[in-house]
Amino acid sequence: MQRDPYFQGQQMPLLIGGATTSRAHTAVKIAPHYDGPIVYVADASRSVTVMQNLLTPETRGAYLAEIQADYEKARTQHANKKGTPLLTIAQARANKASLTFTGSNTPVKPKFIGRREIKNFDLSIIAQYIDWTPFFQTWDLAGFYPAILKDDVVGEAATKLFSEAQAMLKKIIDGRWLTANGVLALHPANRIGDDDIEIYTDETRKEVAFTYYGMRQQTVKPVIDGMQRPNQCLADFIAPKGIDDYIGLFAVTGGLGIEKHEQRFEAAHDDYSSIMLKALADRLAEAFAEYLHERVRTDFWGYATGENLSKEALIKEEYLGIRPAPGYPACPDHTVKPDMFHLLQAESIGMELTESFAMYPGAAVSGFYFAHPESKYFSVDKIGVDQLEDMAKRRGLTKAYLERWLAPNLS
Ligand code: SAM
Repeated sequence: MQRDPYFQGQQMPLLIGGATTSRAHTAVKIAPHYDGPIVYVADASRSVTVMQNLLTPETRGAYLAEIQADYEKARTQHANKKGTPLLTIAQARANKASLTFTGSNTPVKPKFIGRREIKNFDLSIIAQYIDWTPFFQTWDLAGFYPAILKDDVVGEAATKLFSEAQAMLKKIIDGRWLTANGVLALHPANRIGDDDIEIYTDETRKEVAFTYYGMRQQTVKPVIDGMQRPNQCLADFIAPKGIDDYIGLFAVTGGLGIEKHEQRFEAAHDDYSSIMLKALADRLAEAFAEYLHERVRTDFWGYATGENLSKEALIKEEYLGIRPAPGYPACPDHTVKPDMFHLLQAESIGMELTESFAMYPGAAVSGFYFAHPESKYFSVDKIGVDQLEDMAKRRGLTKAYLERWLAPNLS
């Protein structure tokens, strides 16, 4: 965008959203390059209110001024933070997380190697795994479910919304409005060098299906209780060559078939139902990811066969292992998705990537499975040019290409 003259002189309102965008990123990286109104929208459902503010002559001026002031504040905050000291990538690697892969941390061999599809999965089972708290956030209602239903301020609105959501969910399930498909793959894997993970086609570990190139934290880590905190990278959670370790990949969607119903609502100018449908499809996709991860732990991979966690405990992520998703803080790099989708053969369950690596259908989740009991989510945050250059070299890509994709992480 920075270099594209198309964006100069534009007056069309530009709304920025999606899981990997932020108010700060919009203020610092995008707004200075666009002449027209630009608004960061935390969730698609808010776009209706935003557009109303922009299109109503009485509110437009004040609304835009408020946004301008807010972005200015974000830019100042960012400029102050910019001085965050970074280690060199060599120093960061020297302070990596050293996990053991023996004793109770010995990798467990999955029940099968390769992929498995789950097509047209029962939506009523998936619905039991829905985490409703983010659903209320979608509608700008702050609070945790179920307490939010009794909240002094938003309780009444939340209760009404929830009962309308239940009514539509019932129609989605009974009327088979949406189809939920998923695919997972379990493969032998080893850490290569410090930051990368080779994923092998089979147990001989000779043929590499693809290499996942990890990003390592380079910000200076504190000493807590006398312990130096590590500079982490997802590759730390996988054993080096010589120890047979494994990794999983998955892609799920709860949104196949949504267009027909969206069009029906849009034709009737029923924006509320259209947004509700999208929000529920998103919930079903996340819930399907939760369900599938549970089955992977207790059955397909079987590294936690004795697990018996309540739905609340699943939402609190009390299980062993993680399912980091590309575009999220531990693996901000979206460019791994084509390799993942290829190995998963995601197109055979109706899932695709757009040219900007967004998933289609939109109500979708994909990620990796890591089983190590000490694997935890973390945030890569800012990285240095030295890591960028090193990664470009490891991957045989140009620095400019990677720079474009990793821009939010570059200091
Ligand atoms: N219960 C939530 C829901 O239904 O919306 C689960 C989804 S929430 C976005 C959490 C998911 O985001 C995790 O399961 C993981 O896939 C991803 N995630 C969260 N933090 C992450 C991090 N630091 N790095 C990578 N992925 C992360």
